[in-house]
Amino acid sequence: MNICNACRYCEGHCAVFPAMEMRLSFGAGDLAYLANLCHDCRACYQHCQYAPPHEFAVNLPRVLSEVRSLSYEDTAWPRAFGRLYRANGLAVGIITAIVLATFVTGAVVLADPAALWGVNRGVGSFYAVIPHNVMVVLFGAAFGLAMIALGVATVRFWRGMGAGVATSGENIGTGPCVAASARALHDAATLRYLDGGGDGCTYPGEAPSMARRWFHHLTAYGFLLCFAATCVATLYHYGLGIEAPYAVTSVPVVLGILGGIGLIVGPIGLLWLRHVADPVPADPGREGMDAAFIFLLLATSITGLALLALRETAAMGLLLTVHLGIVMGLFVTLPYGKFVHGFLRLAALARYAIEKKRGQAL
Ligand code: SF4
Ligand code: SF4
Repeated sequence: MNICNACRYCEGHCAVFPAMEMRLSFGAGDLAYLANLCHDCRACYQHCQYAPPHEFAVNLPRVLSEVRSLSYEDTAWPRAFGRLYRANGLAVGIITAIVLATFVTGAVVLADPAALWGVNRGVGSFYAVIPHNVMVVLFGAAFGLAMIALGVATVRFWRGMGAGVATSGENIGTGPCVAASARALHDAATLRYLDGGGDGCTYPGEAPSMARRWFHHLTAYGFLLCFAATCVATLYHYGLGIEAPYAVTSVPVVLGILGGIGLIVGPIGLLWLRHVADPVPADPGREGMDAAFIFLLLATSITGLALLALRETAAMGLLLTVHLGIVMGLFVTLPYGKFVHGFLRLAALARYAIEKKRGQAL
């Protein structure tokens, strides 16, 4: 950090460098803040005159990635679950496998064999396999707990950044102001800093490219569309009294199809970029975490679209069970994997918007 703060060659690449330049020293909270501002575009590695094989061996993307992982572990709720960030790919894989096996076993033991293995069409066919109330209780509880855990992690991170009082003595408040939140949301939604300063990331190699930004957009917005599909389906069920399965042309299914396609193309693109990327600026400790989350999203979308395509065949019962098992695995591991980066990055971007606005010398 001190080398970069003296050099400042990369200050046009992203928010990390201007935020760094507002500081004269770097405590743990500052490092966690800078690490979560970093989008890992790797421009500062490819453009660095002090990168390996130079004796300084400056490798900022890798160092910030390591600090980022530690910040996830430090802010986890409950605290003991922070250990899940170590060997995260293995942990997420094992948890998902257990959840999936439980769903399949539960369906085989408890469901009506005719509903599980037979051809069932029309209203209520899904709920003959797994009752609607069971789905609501299980997924409502898992999603609610995940949101609580992510909320606590974000608050801990915000407080850990030293967001309350600047070293100049000026109190900047305990929460982001509305304008800062709006700025942060805009920067996160557009991936403003995943462009290497304008030309694109130097990812997967030295040549600037917007590929990662587009694949990330497809993944993130695909996820949001699938979430929107679930919300609209819930409205159909409780508000309009219309039970699934819905017509292919209905709003929830159209949203689900569009989201599912995004969640296939985006993750495959991200996996391909990871496969061909220069490994030197990458943090080997993060590989499993990133890959596990991407594979989980991919499995969710593939099984969801397969269920849609085969919902009027004898495969529907098992496909529904497998899809819901994978979605439950995703929900359970949301606060203890890659998904947390969205929350902490948003908080870091809000902090940066506040600092930028006030032009503080921290
Ligand atoms: S990454 Fe290298 S070139 Fe960029 S500011 Fe740091 S030391 Fe300078
Ligand atoms: S990797 Fe990209 S986002 Fe991260 S510090 Fe370097 S230039 Fe900034």
